[in-house]
Amino acid sequence: MSQPHTRVVIIGGGPGGYEAALVAAQLGADVTVIEDSGLGGSCVLTDCVPSKTLIATASLMAAMEGTKDLGIKFDHDDASAEAVSSHAQADAPRVYARIRDLALAQSADVAARLAREGVRVIDGRGRLVRPGVVAVGDTEIRADTVLIATGARPRELPGAVPDGERLLTSRQLYDLPELPSDLVVVGSGVTGAEFASGFQALGSRVTFVSSREHVLPNEDTDAAMVVEGVFRRRGMTVLSKSRAESASRTADGVEVRLEDGRTVRGSAGDCTGVWMLASVAAMQGRIAMWHSLGEAVQPLRLGHVAATIFTEPEIAAVGASQQDVDSGKVLARAVKLPLATNARAKMDGFSDGFVKLFARRNSGIVLGGVIVAPRASDLILGVSLAVEQQLTVDEVAHTFAVYPSLTGSITEAARQLMQPADDPSR
Ligand SMILES: Cc1cc2nc3c(=O)[nH]c(=O)nc-3n(C[C@H](O)[C@H](O)[C@H](O)COP(=O)(O)OP(=O)(O)OC[C@H]3O[C@@H](n4cnc5c(N)ncnc54)[C@H](O)[C@@H]3O)c2cc1C
Repeated sequence: MSQPHTRVVIIGGGPGGYEAALVAAQLGADVTVIEDSGLGGSCVLTDCVPSKTLIATASLMAAMEGTKDLGIKFDHDDASAEAVSSHAQADAPRVYARIRDLALAQSADVAARLAREGVRVIDGRGRLVRPGVVAVGDTEIRADTVLIATGARPRELPGAVPDGERLLTSRQLYDLPELPSDLVVVGSGVTGAEFASGFQALGSRVTFVSSREHVLPNEDTDAAMVVEGVFRRRGMTVLSKSRAESASRTADGVEVRLEDGRTVRGSAGDCTGVWMLASVAAMQGRIAMWHSLGEAVQPLRLGHVAATIFTEPEIAAVGASQQDVDSGKVLARAVKLPLATNARAKMDGFSDGFVKLFARRNSGIVLGGVIVAPRASDLILGVSLAVEQQLTVDEVAHTFAVYPSLTGSITEAARQLMQPADDPSR
């Protein structure tokens, strides 16, 4: 418990800020959050929540492509499921309205939770005027602890200044009157891949400009190649090793110029900087408050962060990577099980993806894993628990998974990594 009435002032009400506020309130502090754009921060209002809401609609559209194979017929004049799925169209204004409504509702939920916990919220721009004093407008607030959780903004490149109409940052996508017919996504990283995947499923023709050899260069290559293969199979134009130099408006669209002289046409486009994820921001905020208010803490273990790329299929990973193993940074054995061999995946009608586990040689402690699958974001928790709690493959292998289930591939991979005590390769 903190000293009674320890005064905590937090500048910024995103996951870094509001999760810290909840910890401080639980420990009995007097807490004030200052936020100028709406509780939940960019995470809830412009970035994470809106993009995942868009992807929810996109995922359903993508799933409809497989309805015929699953034996579904529709009671329409042109009765085939193929016809229905090929005629399904995203109603862009409704999709965007749902995204905005859901973001505002989530922001209201954060506000209600903070109010229930007795956290004071000030709507305004905070500034640190001197140690222990924060000002909002002309009002000065004294604090024993100040937490700065002001987030980050999208970088604007000199040769591609966003105009909010045709040249867009990730925050300007939801105010469009319609779905872009031709979307050029520049940037082969997570945000770019998620938007490319989502808008393609919604019906846009997507050109994905990647300066690197393949999409998602920071992920395990085999996982990234599954996603790139699905992108191409669904008709996306993926331009690898193509660095975009600039982008400008034309009479009826945009033109992206590549460093090699080619052009591509389209109709549209955190404060510590550690690892820009909402889950990391929230954990940093909690650790800062536990530490500041006298609780025992563990430093943030970046190697244990579970992260997901919400493409179709999703890529979720935690702990050691294939590159760590291949480079000898960690001494581990790996097992990869294609989803095509998983009974539940067969029943659900998908085969793109795999479950991969890494376990330390000798001890068999689980060091990490990669899951490429629909809802990999949900499936990774089992691997994440194993990494955080340093479970061995024997312990994971003896854990019950439901049959049939995708998590069955996790326990099966662990079983395949088990080795008899006298095995010389341990
Ligand atoms: C398109 C996109 C999709 C993403 N998807 C995911 C995802 O699926 N999963 C995931 O984990 N992460 C995701 N992220 C990253 C995630 O959004 C960020 O890591 C997270 O928002 C960081 O939280 P934060 O609290 O540090 O900052 P923010 O959420 O940015 O909140 C900071 C708040 O502080 C306010 N502020 C700034 N200065 C002041 C001031 N002086 N006074 C008052 N208020 C101030 C800002 O207006 C803002 O509201 C995504 C990011 C993007 C761009």
